[in-house]
Amino acid sequence: MKFQPDKPPVFAETPESLALRLAQRNEPSFRAGQVFKWIYKERARSPDQMTNLPRPLREWLSANFDFAPNTPVLGTDSSDVTRKILQRLRDGSLIETVILRAPRTGKDNEKARTTLCVSTQIGCAYGCRFCASGLKGWKRDLSAGEIVAQVMSALENKAADTLDNLVVMGMGEPLANYDNLIAALRILNAPWALGLGARRMTISTSGIVPKILTLAEEPLDVRLAVSLHGSTNAVRDKIMPINKQYPLETLLPACKTFAEKHGRMLTFEFILIAGVNDSIDQARSLAKIAREIHAHVNLIPCNPVAGLPWKRPSIARQQAFTHELHSCGISVTLRREKGTDIAAACGQLRLQVENGEANQSLQRGGPKSAQGNALGYHYH
Ligand code: SF4
Repeated sequence: MKFQPDKPPVFAETPESLALRLAQRNEPSFRAGQVFKWIYKERARSPDQMTNLPRPLREWLSANFDFAPNTPVLGTDSSDVTRKILQRLRDGSLIETVILRAPRTGKDNEKARTTLCVSTQIGCAYGCRFCASGLKGWKRDLSAGEIVAQVMSALENKAADTLDNLVVMGMGEPLANYDNLIAALRILNAPWALGLGARRMTISTSGIVPKILTLAEEPLDVRLAVSLHGSTNAVRDKIMPINKQYPLETLLPACKTFAEKHGRMLTFEFILIAGVNDSIDQARSLAKIAREIHAHVNLIPCNPVAGLPWKRPSIARQQAFTHELHSCGISVTLRREKGTDIAAACGQLRLQVENGEANQSLQRGGPKSAQGNALGYHYH
């Protein structure tokens, strides 16, 4: 399904495309640069604020472009350093953006490092067994303008006064919305927009092999995270339906191609689920894969998923799995979750709001009391 807004988001424009539109009005091309400066440097949300533009031009901009396609409708605070924002789009759809704040090591007096986790689709068609985003299926792709607007809207939040890293790990499978995603990242990377370095952007995928190979050829030098969650096909099949289409024997060579083309480590995400993929045998085959591809491994102890009997492994079992990877010489991180008390895993807050649960729970002091961490973390 494709949504056609009344006016296109201005956030999809580039200097070339906007200059072309302005030339049709006999406006000088430097006006495009002025508009972008207002949007990305001054963070203006309306042409009314663009005081160095002639009034007729401001009126034309207002009439022809949407400057606020995403409206924040709900923000949560968590007891740790995570904040989740729900934004409503012009067609009424809800998307989630997560702000993660982390202290800079060794620089106590400096501001925390801010990472934004953004969504690329409304819902998701891929149905990973641990993920809330796929529970209601796929509704539509976000346009490039909506993805950029999502970032700009999140940056209005006082918790995100700076942007250090962008992870495309929110609702939706990013590589299933490839063209819009890349167009958006190019804009965010451009010096006339945010100027965020490509190496500060990470795309996380469930493993769409042809798109990984296309991404490997992109000049935009982004980082890649691949959700593995099983180090054999038999185990991965249980967790990720996409493994039937792109099993490990096709996925892993694509990962290797990406790593070689970009000349650095990619990351494998691996949710630890008790009795499903947390055995030492799984750790050993994961170590073999990670060594072969020269990948870092992120281990994420799972949250219980509503409707599924899956449980988080004991701390001892998490540590044994981690130790096995370490002892095989693999670079590995055992993640501490952030934001479990605000339903920070992708898709949870949206589901709570759509089910009418979030407002009640927020009034009671946070979604912890409503649904807690009942749904799983989203790591494609
Ligand atoms: S983990 Fe990602 S790809 Fe899998 S269902 Fe959730 S949003 Fe879709």
